[in-house]
Amino acid sequence: MALVREKASKRLHVESTLMGESLVSNEFIGSLDIAPQERLYPDVKLMKIGGQSICDRGSQALPGILKEIVRNRSDHKMVITTGGGTRSRHIYTIGLEMGMPTGVIAKFGSMVSEQNALMIATLLSPWGGIQMSHSDIVKLPTYFAENIIPVMHGMPPYDYFAIKPKVGRIPIHRTDVGLVILADLIGSKTILFIKDEKGLYTDDPKKNPKAEFIPEIGAKDLLDQNQDDMVIERPCLEIMQNSEVIEKVQIINGMVEGNITKALNGEHVGTIIYRQ
Ligand code: ADP
Ligand code: MG
Repeated sequence: MALVREKASKRLHVESTLMGESLVSNEFIGSLDIAPQERLYPDVKLMKIGGQSICDRGSQALPGILKEIVRNRSDHKMVITTGGGTRSRHIYTIGLEMGMPTGVIAKFGSMVSEQNALMIATLLSPWGGIQMSHSDIVKLPTYFAENIIPVMHGMPPYDYFAIKPKVGRIPIHRTDVGLVILADLIGSKTILFIKDEKGLYTDDPKKNPKAEFIPEIGAKDLLDQNQDDMVIERPCLEIMQNSEVIEKVQIINGMVEGNITKALNGEHVGTIIYRQ
């Protein structure tokens, strides 16, 4: 890239493809020739331990899941993120009732998912569990060299800058979205949502006993179906569709022993949602 001096003002510019562009033009962005995205850590397996679905069940769910994670420690590089669950919903309810804006509600969500991250990291600490923050992401290779299991809170760090949704003030980018964005960032090939149902159904199986299980579906087809309720947060699907590196996400029932191990080893348990 060459330095160029503007004749009239004598100002120096760096000649580049983006010089003088607003970066708003759809036509310009569409015509840009860019390098394919690097996969930073493709072999790192990302998994979110659900807040409401798993963490809130405490001693009925966590010991088994954490034991299974520890058993897999020598075979897989794993990063664990955490949801917020019922305590998030409680403070969201009060915050909404008190007129809090979306950004404050989102900040509440971050704080609660941090509580769960601290708990999981503490429980895993005898086996290398540590709590990590977003700025520690570049330390992942160092962590794995030391056999560490990093645990991070799942909320994306929009916090006060969370954008108000069309309806209401509950932030739409919560801890499921956090996992998918993290996966896009590091280029993970394995993205697991550990929840309390077999996977995706045609409707919430807790409310509709006639809901049918969907073992595999494309993200675009699922978006087009416009399901009223879903097993993962809706924006995950759009983020997947726009990703250059995410191939699929998998939703598994962590309450069934062996599922995490199977999914880590690439087996099709639960539901796979793939990028179309
Ligand atoms: P997490 O705590 O992991 O974020 P959530 O409780 O927020 O989990 O979301 C998972 C729950 O979503 C399931 O336990 C299920 O009751 C509900 N759900 C709603 N719609 C669906 C669907 N179409 N398929 C499967 N589960 C669904
Ligand atoms: Mg959820």
